[in-house]
Amino acid sequence: MREPIIKGEPGVDPGEPRGRQEGRKIDPVDEKLRPQSLAEVIGQRSVAERLEIALSASRKRGEPLPHILFDGPPGLGKTTFATVLHNELGVELNMTSGPALSKNADVMPYLTNAVEGSILFIDEIHRLPATVEEFIYPVMEDFRVDIVLGEGMNARTINLPLKRFTIIGATTRSGMLSGPLRDRFHMHEHLEFYDVEDLSRIITINSVKLRTTITEDAAWELARRSRGTPRLANARLRWVRDFATARSDGQITLPVARDALAMQEVDEEGMDKQDRRYLETLIKVFRGGPTGAEALSATMNVAVDTLTDEVEPYLLRRHFIVRTPRGRRATVEAYRHLGMPEPMPEINLLDPQRRLFE
Ligand code: ADP
Repeated sequence: MREPIIKGEPGVDPGEPRGRQEGRKIDPVDEKLRPQSLAEVIGQRSVAERLEIALSASRKRGEPLPHILFDGPPGLGKTTFATVLHNELGVELNMTSGPALSKNADVMPYLTNAVEGSILFIDEIHRLPATVEEFIYPVMEDFRVDIVLGEGMNARTINLPLKRFTIIGATTRSGMLSGPLRDRFHMHEHLEFYDVEDLSRIITINSVKLRTTITEDAAWELARRSRGTPRLANARLRWVRDFATARSDGQITLPVARDALAMQEVDEEGMDKQDRRYLETLIKVFRGGPTGAEALSATMNVAVDTLTDEVEPYLLRRHFIVRTPRGRRATVEAYRHLGMPEPMPEINLLDPQRRLFE
């Protein structure tokens, strides 16, 4: 396994948006659990198959991989796929993130130092400022940067040729990416939430890596309550493993897994306190909505990005909320899940046959 070369502050995870980046160290256990080859990647089969084709073509032609954009909620494998591609090709990997590249001078060293065929991974690429984005267009198209020297009448542009390399972008918000930037990626891969079976396999494999034993039904229970997200499945597994060591003989059985999750206040659906607080705020304060993410964020005192990137995608997928042109709205399932009385359907006076509330 090759170590990725991570530029920027050593030991700081470049995958975190600025603000959450400071002080957050790369966790060696997380790195140990990360698949290193395509064969080790679980699920996302169609994505993996298309990457296999790209890898094979790149090997046969002796050319760099095409530029690839991964999008999807956090923790679904965007960084993992970039790491796997670098291992499969045996090329250098440099990692940075949109918020770390605030001006052209920040991105320049990554471009000029890139060796033939290497990979530059830019996490949270939707946060690149427009000027930096435009600066990398010619890089992505023709492997050159255009540097403007002087000002006004005396200004002239110098074209600096670069080595041919690959940019892999990752984003939790593909909608925020500008059209021209999106178009410069040759492959767009959307990562979906994982099903329980795949998460259960990930948990079982990782329990071996963590030298712990887990029964089949306990692995299934953890998988079922990990909101379709491998990163969360790993975090739950690590907590349950600590709990099993502290409270019993270290074996993760179904009762141990259930007790450990109850202690973490993870409910039957895998929702944690923050997910439930979101639904409670939407229902109790905003009478079920519709309301905007900013209003929820201000009321909950939680960053709007945290709500839109980390909390809402799974609530949407579980149909606990819906998005309408006027904002988020709680569904009947959300009321049921929280054990709250369902609202009376409002009657549309113009058309009494139609209920306004779904
Ligand atoms: P993202 O970059 O999308 O936020 P990561 O790639 O960092 O997510 O994934 C988080 C963790 O989840 C990884 O460290 C890895 O252990 C696990 N993981 C992600 N995708 C897979 C997968 N397809 N198979 C097995 N484990 C995975």
